[in-house]
Amino acid sequence: MAAKVYFWDLSSSRKVPFDRRLRKLLKSSKWAGQLQPGDLVAVKIHFGEAGSTGFLSPQFVKPVIDFLRKAGAKPFLTDTNTLYIGQRGESVSHALQAAGHGFDPLLLGAPVIIADGVKSNHEVSVKGPGHHFEHCYLAGDILDADSLITLSHVTGHELTGFAGALKNIAMGCATRKGKMQQHCGLGPRLEQDNCQGCGECIEVCGSGALRLDEQGRAEIDRDSCNGCAACLLACRYGALVVDYQMELPLFMERLVEYAGAVLQAVSRPALHLNYLLNVTAGCDCCSDKNRPMCPDIGVLASYDPVALDQAGYDLVNQAPGRDSVLPESRQRGQDKFASLYPRAETEHCFAYAQQLGLGKRDYQLISV
Ligand code: SF4
Ligand code: SF4
Repeated sequence: MAAKVYFWDLSSSRKVPFDRRLRKLLKSSKWAGQLQPGDLVAVKIHFGEAGSTGFLSPQFVKPVIDFLRKAGAKPFLTDTNTLYIGQRGESVSHALQAAGHGFDPLLLGAPVIIADGVKSNHEVSVKGPGHHFEHCYLAGDILDADSLITLSHVTGHELTGFAGALKNIAMGCATRKGKMQQHCGLGPRLEQDNCQGCGECIEVCGSGALRLDEQGRAEIDRDSCNGCAACLLACRYGALVVDYQMELPLFMERLVEYAGAVLQAVSRPALHLNYLLNVTAGCDCCSDKNRPMCPDIGVLASYDPVALDQAGYDLVNQAPGRDSVLPESRQRGQDKFASLYPRAETEHCFAYAQQLGLGKRDYQLISV
């Protein structure tokens, strides 16, 4: 049987206020039935990188918070710290970044709690669901919550091609160590020319994988490195960086396995929303590529993140494209994500997610 994907189609409801439509979408999913008064509900979103306009605006999130509060739950807005070092690389700057983008607890009715702790050490190790990982490292507060709902801004992405629920779950619920595992297996890349010999990375490396060489520059012993990524945050000179060089099919499989680990580890079935609004070419981490690639489409909801992403992918590809964003003129039905990112392996991602049992690619679109 095909998986149910609930669809608020923007083109069919221009006169109905956004909050009422979103409430109806959530009601259709019957998710409220599993909520208990006082439940702590993790609302997983992306607060947007500094300088970016391509993130879910708080006004799109508030109806979800209102819905949860009306059900007696206590929602909190959450994300995890990034692997790269930027405004969201540790929790203090990350929470300030969220506030700067309008995620105000008093206005929204939900605080921002960065789920993996101040320096991304609040993690829970769970069994990997596939063959790439024995253990996956997930954010402690997401697993501590009584329920999880993910709100994903659908975008393009230079590695995954299409970015929606699966990426938000996999990368977004992992600690820095978990992100490191997905991106580069083991170990950072060392840019020795940038090293100042300060020794900070050696202080934080619990595996003894770093030391200074005879010239006073850091060197790494890859056999000892466990990929914890602590040194990335410690180095202030850009000498230790993420090694993004990985075969893309392998990266997609690792990402899918992390999504599977999260879905297995949460205490109740999670609900997932894909917002097909302001579908930008770049992901929410980009401060460029913020122009939309197609007109606004609506919002999707499902318990099945594979069906949800497949539906989002199909709807964006069926929509007329914006020639100013896409590299060549795209007609309805042509793959906009492949056009932007020819190396990406979206098809492999969906196929592997289905193979691993995360959901089905067959879906039934139910308009609300
Ligand atoms: S990733 Fe962790 S174990 Fe590896 S060198 Fe950096 S701090 Fe050490
Ligand atoms: S923290 Fe960075 S600059 Fe300092 S020793 Fe390590 S790699 Fe070199």
